[in-house]
Amino acid sequence: MFIEPRMEKKMGHRSGWIEVICGSMFSGKTEELIRRLNRAAIAKQQVEIFKPSTDVRYHEEDIVSHNRQRIPSTPVDKARDILELAGVCEVVGIDEAQFFDADLPAVVNQLANDGKRVILAGLDMDSQGRPFGPMPTLMALAEYVTKVHAICIQCGEVAHYSYRKVPNEEQVLLGEKDSYEARCRACFLAES
Ligand code: ZN
Repeated sequence: MFIEPRMEKKMGHRSGWIEVICGSMFSGKTEELIRRLNRAAIAKQQVEIFKPSTDVRYHEEDIVSHNRQRIPSTPVDKARDILELAGVCEVVGIDEAQFFDADLPAVVNQLANDGKRVILAGLDMDSQGRPFGPMPTLMALAEYVTKVHAICIQCGEVAHYSYRKVPNEEQVLLGEKDSYEARCRACFLAES
């Protein structure tokens, strides 16, 4: 279980940092993001949450996890938009980070340099098993990386691949449970 670092004031200004929560589909990434953001809110910290406007799965403005937890969020078109919209908040949550453009690592670095705690959740690999978008860079820049795992639908082992049941050449395919399943390495290799 991830234990939050203390937000201490050092020499008159707060020191920020970056946390990445990554894993396959059905691994509980968004649940873990929501858990951390809820705890920050309980600690009376001001929280702002963003997601890419391409992610319109269930609801226009809320982050919704598979177990239907819900938290209000702001959809943004470009990573740079977050710099302006984050304002004076102390904690910035970003969901579906893999869908953002290549500016996201520089943006979250800036937010952390400005004293904010930044928590990102995203798919570390696409359905071909390739590192996804800005995620590898974000994982390198982060102080804390948590990789969460799903359970393989085929055999019950720990899974870290998002296997696409419906053939599609595009890296980004929205609208999930019907199209994907979590698979372990052996079961992923068996059919790809
Ligand atoms: Zn398996």
